[in-house]
Parts: sequence; C-alpha cells; structure tokens
Amino acid sequence: MVNLYADLHIHIGQSLDGKAVKITAAKSLNLPNVLEVSRQIKGLGMIGVIDAQSPGVRKDFRQMIQVGILRPLEGGGYGAEGLTVILGTEIELSVGTGAAHFLAYFPTLNHIEGYVEKIHPFLKNWQLSSQKGHLSIEQWLAAVAENEGIWLPAHAFTPHKGIYGNCCKSLLDILPGLPPALEIGLSADRQMAKSISELNKVVLFSNSDAHSLPKIGREYNLLNLSEASFQGLKKLVYRTSGEVLVNYGLPPKYGKYHRTYCLVCERIVDGEPPLLSCPSCGNPRVVTGVLDRLVSIADAEIPNTPDPRYIYQIPLQELPGIGPKMYGRLLEHFGTEMNVLHQVPERNLVQVAGEKVAQLILLSRQGKLDVQPGGGGVFGKVVDILS
Ligand SMILES: [Zn+2]
Ligand SMILES: [Zn+2]
Repeated sequence: MVNLYADLHIHIGQSLDGKAVKITAAKSLNLPNVLEVSRQIKGLGMIGVIDAQSPGVRKDFRQMIQVGILRPLEGGGYGAEGLTVILGTEIELSVGTGAAHFLAYFPTLNHIEGYVEKIHPFLKNWQLSSQKGHLSIEQWLAAVAENEGIWLPAHAFTPHKGIYGNCCKSLLDILPGLPPALEIGLSADRQMAKSISELNKVVLFSNSDAHSLPKIGREYNLLNLSEASFQGLKKLVYRTSGEVLVNYGLPPKYGKYHRTYCLVCERIVDGEPPLLSCPSCGNPRVVTGVLDRLVSIADAEIPNTPDPRYIYQIPLQELPGIGPKMYGRLLEHFGTEMNVLHQVPERNLVQVAGEKVAQLILLSRQGKLDVQPGGGGVFGKVVDILS
C-alpha cells in the first residue's frame, strides 16, 4: 500500500498550440507547468488533469509521452518522476431541477478517446472545458463504463452547477444509483456532507478545481492506495482496496458561497441557517449559501464534533505574513508546500519564517485557523492573529 497526497481536479487553461481550453483559467495553466508545479512546488503525489477530452490537451499528452516525460503505468495513468497523472474530464448534464457538473477519469488516452467518440454527437466544442452535454445521465454513464472510467459529481454542494446545490435533495431521486464517490467542493466539509445520510456510503474527495497554478492543491486528499495508478484509484473508489485517510480543505466558512448573499442589500446574510431569502429586506433574489442550502435539504444533524478526517487548511500563500518573499524562502528551505504544511518541525519553521508565521503554519497544520465567513462569490478572510 502507498500513501500519497492527491488533487484530482486541476484544469488546463490553454493547450501548447495556444488554443484556450478553460477560458476563465490562466494561460500559464498548461500541461508542462501543471506537472512541474504539482510535483516540485506543491509536493503532490497524484493529480487528476481535467480537460483531457480536449484535442489540444490530448496532443500535449501524446507529445510528453513521446519524449519520455510521461510514462504509461501498468495500472493506468501516467508517471512523471514520482507524480502519478490521471486523465480526467468534466461535463455539464441536466439532471433533476437543474444542471450539474460531473467528473470522469480514464486509465489511458485510448480509453478517453473511446469515450469522446461514443458521445461525440452530443457535445459541441470538445476543445473547451466543462461543456454542456446534450445526452441523458444514463447515456453518459454508459459511455464512461464502456471505457473503464470512474465518475463522480463535482463540487456537489455549490450553487453553481453542484448536484445538491441546485438539482436535488436526494441523489437517488435523479441518478440511477448512488455514485461511488463525490467531490465535496469548496464551502463545504465532511461534517456538512454527513448531514445527508445517503452519503455515508459514498467516498468523499476534496479537490482544488484549480483555474491557475497557485491554486493547485488548495484542497487535496491523503489517499491510501494499493498502487499509485488509475487502478489503485479505481479500487479505492469502489472500496475494494485503499481509502481516503484525510481531506484537507478550506474551512467551509472561508468558501465564497458559504452563506446566502442578498443581491439587493449586497451583503452576506446573518442568522441561523437555513436563510433562503434576505432576513433584512425579505428579498428572495439571493445567491443561496452552501450551508443554507445544505441545512434545508439535510435529513440528519450536522455533527458538531470535528471530524478527524477533515483538516481545515488555508493555502500557504493566503496566510497573513506570507508574501511572495516569505513564500520563496519557505520553499527554498523546505522544498515543497506539502513539506511546509505537514513535515517541517516547529523549530525549523521558526528559524526560517519567524515566530508568528510559524505559529500560523502550525495552526493551519492542526486545522485551527480562525476565519471570517465568505459568500456571494467572495472568499472569507483569515483572522490575522499577527496584528
Ligand atoms: Zn465544475
Ligand atoms: Zn472544474
């Protein structure tokens, strides 16, 4: 068995031929940069490159395989000096009362090409990320299964294309069965997910959904796998071997859709959840918060004891006191963000970063940072204990 840190939802901004893949993502978010930043700066052991359905991205993969930077693994996926790269794709499908994003992962380029061929007529622009598929969820699941893929609902609780966020109260009402796994998404955590009892049987991931290089690994998982490959991941997802040991994620309060946001008052609501309209002006034109939505559909209490399998973290570069210089110094001394966040002993942190920054990193390591809530598309704030 092997333990590794995994971020399974990283987008591509542009393929190397200069064509956009994810229009809202950074141009520098191309395949070679994603590999380098994930391995050398973040210190991840496994990544899911979403957008591998894109012809431009597939061409980049082929090229990197040809020159030997990526090596096909026996169990599926590709190896790059200690980093395992899994091919993934995201699609938007209409289900229930709305539309949701789904992720699928495949063992090899040939498999993902088989998938593309199968559903080619139902989707318009294959170069671009997260496009709408004009097919039923059943047809889509068949195409994934036929090509040996794994699938899961993406950022399940967000108001923007999250399955619980705007499509259903119970997955069983709109899907042919429970998904094997589900991505919690920013603004929610394992405790919140536990308030929906059907999720007790579902493997829960936290991923970054990165649209730029620095955001890679802002949420990630510590996985225990039978092997570092696609098959290892598939066995974990189908619970035959391996497990998610810990999710590392932003505190839900920090997420940009945590509480309901009133579009008239232009502020985040305040009061006991669920608030599905504005308590000050009564206006129902709000961006429903993840917490408010969740409490309104939950069939169990949100446990108020912390779950040891969900550790709250803020990305290093977003901690007060860590500007570009300090960040550079930390990486220079300790190699990767994962080392800084998990391994480096306190006294070494103090030597390099000083007492206060070291304390913040340690609080982050224990999941004990204090934050002010976010909402309406704006992130929360870390309460600056330094000032
Ligand atoms: Zn999405
Ligand atoms: Zn995405």
